[in-house]
Amino acid sequence: KHPVPSDIQISKDLTSLGLPPISSIASSLGLTPSEFIPWGPHKGKVTLSPLTRLSSTPHGNYVVVTGINPTPLGEGKSTTTIGLAQALGARLGKKCVACIRQPSQGPTFGVKGGAAGGGYSQVLPMEEFNLHLTGDIHAVGAANNLLAAALETRMYHEACQSDEALFRRIVGKNGFNRVMIRRLEKLGIEKRNPEEFTDEEKGRFARLDIDPSTITWNRVLDVCDRHLRSVSVGLGVNETVKNPAGGDRIQHDRTTGFDITVASEVMAVLGLTSDLTDMRERLGRMVVGYSKSGLTVTADDLGCGGAMTVLMKDAVMPTLMQTAERTPVMVHAGPFANIATGNSSVVADKIALKLVGEEGFVVTEAGFGADIGAEKFCDIKCRASGLKPKVAVIVATIRALKMHGGGPQVKAGVTLARVYTEEDVGLVRKGCSNLVRHIENMKKFGVQVVVAVNRFKTDTPLEIEEVVKIAESNGAYKAVMCNHWAEGGAGAEDLARAVVDAAKVVKEEDFKYLYDEGLTIKEKIDVICKEIYRAKEVTYTALALEQIATYETSGFEKFPICMAKTQYSFSCDPAAKGAPVDFEVKIREVRACAGAGFLFPIAGDIMTVPGLPTRPGFYDVDIDEDGEVVGLF
Ligand code: ADP
Repeated sequence: KHPVPSDIQISKDLTSLGLPPISSIASSLGLTPSEFIPWGPHKGKVTLSPLTRLSSTPHGNYVVVTGINPTPLGEGKSTTTIGLAQALGARLGKKCVACIRQPSQGPTFGVKGGAAGGGYSQVLPMEEFNLHLTGDIHAVGAANNLLAAALETRMYHEACQSDEALFRRIVGKNGFNRVMIRRLEKLGIEKRNPEEFTDEEKGRFARLDIDPSTITWNRVLDVCDRHLRSVSVGLGVNETVKNPAGGDRIQHDRTTGFDITVASEVMAVLGLTSDLTDMRERLGRMVVGYSKSGLTVTADDLGCGGAMTVLMKDAVMPTLMQTAERTPVMVHAGPFANIATGNSSVVADKIALKLVGEEGFVVTEAGFGADIGAEKFCDIKCRASGLKPKVAVIVATIRALKMHGGGPQVKAGVTLARVYTEEDVGLVRKGCSNLVRHIENMKKFGVQVVVAVNRFKTDTPLEIEEVVKIAESNGAYKAVMCNHWAEGGAGAEDLARAVVDAAKVVKEEDFKYLYDEGLTIKEKIDVICKEIYRAKEVTYTALALEQIATYETSGFEKFPICMAKTQYSFSCDPAAKGAPVDFEVKIREVRACAGAGFLFPIAGDIMTVPGLPTRPGFYDVDIDEDGEVVGLF
């Protein structure tokens, strides 16, 4: 249709024409009835059993969609992931699944809107996709906050009870359970009849003795509420408890904070886990802080890893939906790309690759620009899964290239300057420095690069031609214009053909990681900053150096690196456009995610709870007279 209606209008129009029931999509994908659990007519959970059933079948071609450094409006990675999958599936007749993240309600109601793709390349129904879906984000929040409560309550009880009382109550009449036995092993205490424990052993076992200044575990909510970034807790705790040291009541209060749910380590675990057993292990070993003597305090030390896994037992299964052209889509996990991996789940990609078979394609999306999202995809996600991609699609838009060429800053909610709506081939050419560097970077991983110029209606043929020419003469296997936002899969047929051809000229064995996990932590950080960002030097604060020294000897030294950096530039300065050189990366702090299995160095300011603007997206969201959702975008 012209003009192209709003995303939600398209979703409604196509849904009302009658979507095939999701169970028929599941069975055409080869899922057995017991492997698919319907959650209403349009979505359902896929169990992990195809992984065992199909363990000896060859898997399909693995394609990752990434992008140049974006404007705050987004350059269409999700839209291209869906458009490409539609073209491969509905137009070229390949068996194909798209794998994408579940969007957070923060951005959906904030500035950016949903993440179902857009125009005629969307996941349907977009209002179900963008809101609660099958409740995975809520499960992550529930698990995260149970651990926060466990931590707080333990500090409170330890403050007002003797070692003997703590030991007696924790061990209880049932004796040591599985996690308690693990704690005994961690402390090197022999498991025997609790009566035989010495006072010293009882104290060491039962008292975690958490140093409040080392606590890194926050509470979470899936909302952009900047006023929760820092909060005081415990102000109203007024149960009357006798203090063993004398006096009356013990007040347990402290300053802590909230993160948005998708920034939680639990979400990162969901993204990287291989099954429920592995998730149980990962959740149990997550570190919430340190004891006063420097020992890690984990979720299992707090007795919480099992209950958290129980809360996550449905969330471990990907949700199946469909695109506007009936291509299957697996929606699973939604870790933030700044402090976590920014990629959808390993299990969804693995299941999808088995289901499509050797000739099929799985198109998965990596968040942010390729310098962060695709690097983490290759070095963290693929290392965790063992999967090897063949093709990287780099999405570029004329507007973002113009911005990299020197055009004025693009801002959400502000009308675009004239340079963005009128032809300016020179500005586009200049901005291609950003694209060229991303092409060079992705080739370091041994994949074939296809550039997708996501067409907006103001782009001119000369501008697009210029990008295609520059990309192809700088290492891209092929660069193509695509118009899937306006035309659906038909608009991405050239892109799909280029991807199919590119996958033929590369072997999985060509794929390589950027660095060896055996390098020291500083060497790994150095490789990313110099080879991908092209920094001149990396500097560290005293705190970061101290943290690195602790991790080098705590078993965390083998972890891959998950850089926390702005997505708007190769450097740490969001205003440095194009292909900046000679800059410094200053590492402020290095944190460890022991459960997810990565270290995250923080370079620059990162936001773990975004704020809302004066006129957020939710202003337009409502229920109409027919009970239908309106205004989502
Ligand atoms: P990303 O995944 O890179 O953040 P999205 O795919 O979510 O970007 O797209 C961002 C927004 O831009 C969405 O609202 C989408 O509908 C819109 N969009 C994407 N491609 C086009 C296009 N070619 N023309 C117009 N709007 C587009």
